Amino acid sequence: MCVFGISYASPYFLAKAWNIVSPCRHLYVPVWVSSRWKHTKSQQYKAVIFEMGGVLIPSPATLAAEWEFRNSLQAGWLWKTILSGEKRVAWDRCMLGELTFEEFAAVVSKEKQNSNIIKPYLQAMTSQLKYQIPAMREAIQCIRAEGLKTAILTNNFWFKDQSFLPVEKVDFDVIIESCREGIKKPNPEIYKLCLEHLKVHPTESIYLDDSGQNLEPAAQLGMITIKVGDTNTAIQKLESLLRFPLHGYVYGTQAVRKDTDIPTNRLKEYLQTTLGLSSGEPLTLREFSHGQSNFTYHMWSGDQQLVLRKKPPGKLLQSAHAMEKEYRVMKALGSMGVPVPKTLAICEDPSVLGTSFYLMEYCPGRIFKDPTLPGQPACQRTEIYSAMNHALCQIHQVDIHAAGLDDYGKSGNYIQRQVHTWTKQYRASETHNIQAMEQLIKWLPENLPTQEKTTIVHGDFRLDNLIFHPEKPEVLAILDWELSTLGDPICDVACSCLAHYLPPDFPILKGLNNCDLTELGIPSDLEYLTLYCDNMGMNPVENWNFYMAFTFFRVAAILQGIYKRSLQGQASSTKAETAGKLAENTADLSWMFAIREGFRKFKSIPTRNPNSPVRKYSTWNSPRSSATNLLYTFSPNNHCRHLVSVPKGHLIVSPEGLSPRIQELYHQLTMFMDKHIYPLEAELTDYQRDKNRWIPNPRMEKLKSEAKANGLWNLFLPLKTDPEIKYGAGLTNLEYAHLCEVMGRSLHAPEAFNCSAPDTGNMEILLKYGTEAQKEQWLLPLLEGKIRSCFAMTEPQVASSDATNIKASIVEVGDSFILNGHKWWTSGAMDPRCKLCVFMGKTDPQAHRHRQQSMILVSMDTPGITVVRPLSVFGIEDPPGGHGELTFENVRVPKQNILLGPGRGFEIAQGRLGPGRIHHCMRLIGYADRALQLMKDRVKTRVAFGRPLAEQGSIMADIANSRIEIEQARLLVLKAAHLMDTVSDKEVASEISMIKLVAPSMALHVIDRAIQAFGAAGLSNDYPLAQFFGWARALRLADGPDEVHRAVIAKLELKR
Ligand SMILES: Cc1cc2nc3c(=O)[nH]c(=O)nc-3n(C[C@H](O)[C@H](O)[C@H](O)COP(=O)(O)OP(=O)(O)OC[C@H]3O[C@@H](n4cnc5c(N)ncnc54)[C@H](O)[C@@H]3O)c2cc1C
Repeated sequence: MCVFGISYASPYFLAKAWNIVSPCRHLYVPVWVSSRWKHTKSQQYKAVIFEMGGVLIPSPATLAAEWEFRNSLQAGWLWKTILSGEKRVAWDRCMLGELTFEEFAAVVSKEKQNSNIIKPYLQAMTSQLKYQIPAMREAIQCIRAEGLKTAILTNNFWFKDQSFLPVEKVDFDVIIESCREGIKKPNPEIYKLCLEHLKVHPTESIYLDDSGQNLEPAAQLGMITIKVGDTNTAIQKLESLLRFPLHGYVYGTQAVRKDTDIPTNRLKEYLQTTLGLSSGEPLTLREFSHGQSNFTYHMWSGDQQLVLRKKPPGKLLQSAHAMEKEYRVMKALGSMGVPVPKTLAICEDPSVLGTSFYLMEYCPGRIFKDPTLPGQPACQRTEIYSAMNHALCQIHQVDIHAAGLDDYGKSGNYIQRQVHTWTKQYRASETHNIQAMEQLIKWLPENLPTQEKTTIVHGDFRLDNLIFHPEKPEVLAILDWELSTLGDPICDVACSCLAHYLPPDFPILKGLNNCDLTELGIPSDLEYLTLYCDNMGMNPVENWNFYMAFTFFRVAAILQGIYKRSLQGQASSTKAETAGKLAENTADLSWMFAIREGFRKFKSIPTRNPNSPVRKYSTWNSPRSSATNLLYTFSPNNHCRHLVSVPKGHLIVSPEGLSPRIQELYHQLTMFMDKHIYPLEAELTDYQRDKNRWIPNPRMEKLKSEAKANGLWNLFLPLKTDPEIKYGAGLTNLEYAHLCEVMGRSLHAPEAFNCSAPDTGNMEILLKYGTEAQKEQWLLPLLEGKIRSCFAMTEPQVASSDATNIKASIVEVGDSFILNGHKWWTSGAMDPRCKLCVFMGKTDPQAHRHRQQSMILVSMDTPGITVVRPLSVFGIEDPPGGHGELTFENVRVPKQNILLGPGRGFEIAQGRLGPGRIHHCMRLIGYADRALQLMKDRVKTRVAFGRPLAEQGSIMADIANSRIEIEQARLLVLKAAHLMDTVSDKEVASEISMIKLVAPSMALHVIDRAIQAFGAAGLSNDYPLAQFFGWARALRLADGPDEVHRAVIAKLELKR
């Protein structure tokens, strides 16, 4: 977008800005932006209701009259005869849907007398009346263009298996048919039903019918009624009630409003002198309602159609509404073969219309406001998007010099200038801190494209700014050039793809996110970009994510402007809040693209540059001096972090530094823990000693449903593994680390959020390495929390800390693999919900050490699997999942269950050591922090030897040491998580091993001190301390023994 549109808090700018994102402005503008939409506001009526026969389609009575005339019958004879005797009852039943029209016709034909006249008449009724009266259809289109609702309320019947309704259904918001409802006019209930569906009061509606008998109940209810005899008279009556014209409808237009009306006398003269149009012809004007901030009119002059575009009246920014600029670019591009409306003349003489204006030819065609292109077959959608892409290329291929547009805008640094402009705009309308915007304001200038091409840019290139051929997928005209300038063409491509990332119910611009684009036949944004690059004959755009980040940043700034205005204006608090949330969500979306771009850049960095510092990721990303602000924060129920650092760099060390979306999740999670988990802890722990302990606790299933309903579900799946956010919640490892710590405060919490081991690691394996079929069978039910899983690697007979030792075999036999082996410490295997075992064994004992192993997916109900016994940790069995000892005897597994392929088990084991491997560490920080909290509460209330324990020096030293150790370990966990998000797995290996070593030992020390301070109670089950201690101890082994991690760190260190 160009600078000229910017005037801080100018109503014009905001209205224009709104256009950028709004395909359907009139719905929202009245509340948030301006009061341009006057008709509906002052309009007393909200709906117009039509009978069908005799109003929308010709009357059966008129047809009967013709019939009677032709057959020399007495007037009224036909219907009198049809409705005599039992036929009357049959006709009533027909309209109530109890008989079909064919059955009714059979009843009539039973009487041989007169059936030779009546039968053909009835046939004619269903064939000759099957068209909508054009004048009435046009009136309906005019009514709808003004934002009023329309409905049909008809007594009709079933004919040929369908209800008889020969009208364009898209013209109506509500259709009430007697044959479907089982009631008919004049029963007042059917009128009430119609009003109810329309959600209008009777006095807000107008009802048209050709039968006085049917109008009566409507009038009694308070509806305004019009008896339809002659169509034109009825339309005139309706016009006088509605106070806007009901003829001359043109697609996309509405009646000209009072405040935008223009005098036509001088205009007629001008048209005569400039275009040679006859001034004797009436000039009919309508106003375009969509997508323009300048006033745009459709004009009929005789049979000629024109479009007039004009500056709004009043004092304007010099650069805004630059008619001359728009006219110039369209004229120039038109001459270069770009599809634009043909320009006819520009008038800068204010004596004609008060402000300058220009004229174009009217270009009839289709405008698609909904990017899903409803009603189009998939192949047409593909072609429509392809035509859109082609039209964009036509703009960008224009030789600026040959088109005479060298001075059309500043040349170079387009995006830099844009970022600056939109940052200023955002700052001017800032109402509160939006973390993502702050991050973007810093990030965007640091990541500007190094190379920028300069072409004409449209500035607002979207599907709904294009006129397509009425039938063919061909762009006839590109509209709305107000924001065009010289700039980076990829910004236009990114703008074309805005809808791809917005949800379908996004209130401003209907989005395509979550739509099945393949099924729809719509290209994804990347496919669209590739097509563009191919069409332009250029190299792929590597930093596409930057452009998307920039585009959404711009939209977020615009939305924030709207939000600020809504706060200042009359908008309801709910509406204002919605606008504010939209700005925040869009900023988050933008930041998501920035993160993706970060991943891309890091991946493209050479792995070892001898000139750069060896440990480049081990220190802060930004200079220390500007890295932190210090804040004191407290949260209810034990979540306080006393002194937290609010980072300005990328390593977020406290929840306050998280983006608003993640902070909201964090807040909800802590509330959930307070409300649902802590109060239930004692009961859940007791159940683990109950005789039913191996049956999953129904309480846990209830907790899971509640957590899922609250969106606290599958938070663990990292954005890096699930960049499309198809399966998880789209959190980075760093963001999850903060949340996972909260979950770690209770041993029962992780399962409630579907974030517990070993499922998390297994889900990651399936996502990373599984085939689509494997995902369908196992990943989806795991993600839904319907089943659980286990991981079987460790074996009793061999030192399993060295995975090359394992003995279990996987042998290929025909179309199966046969598994044999003895496993133990298979966590989760005891759970009746455990349906999947990820089994590690050797497929080729002769191969290279690290190519012998494979992993295979085994259904737990496969014959040959025996669960020998549950193992316990310090006597704790951890039901219902437990840690099982299992034997596998000739277990036959289909070949397609192998993961990735034979010999790739080690590779997967490495991958399994992905993010999942530090979740335990994140939780251990939670164990320790809670233990310290419990300890502090305890020592403040117990007195020994005349003083509270809290005042004993050794206790104070223990508290201080615990806090220091927790903070150290937490920082190391966060750093490891941050590196996992930003560098390759290989580069973060050392930090991961460090934290696996540090976190359990730290937790053991802290918990041990807390137990000591509690006295004997600390060892009991009355507090979670003893169990925390048990698990912290187990974790010095379970994720690989300390010694193994130490060896990894040392080896890497020696290599440096
Ligand atoms: C609670 C819990 C849950 C578990 N869940 C699972 C699971 O779901 N699936 C699964 O497959 N396994 C699981 N395990 C098993 C765990 O992964 C193994 O216990 C671990 O890998 C160690 O293997 P090991 O027991 O065979 O010990 P060994 O390999 O026999 O090692 C014994 C000891 O030798 C020493 N040692 C080993 N290597 C070195 C070295 N390089 N330098 C110096 N000393 C060394 C260490 O002190 C080590 O503790 C779980 C374990 C526990 C306690």
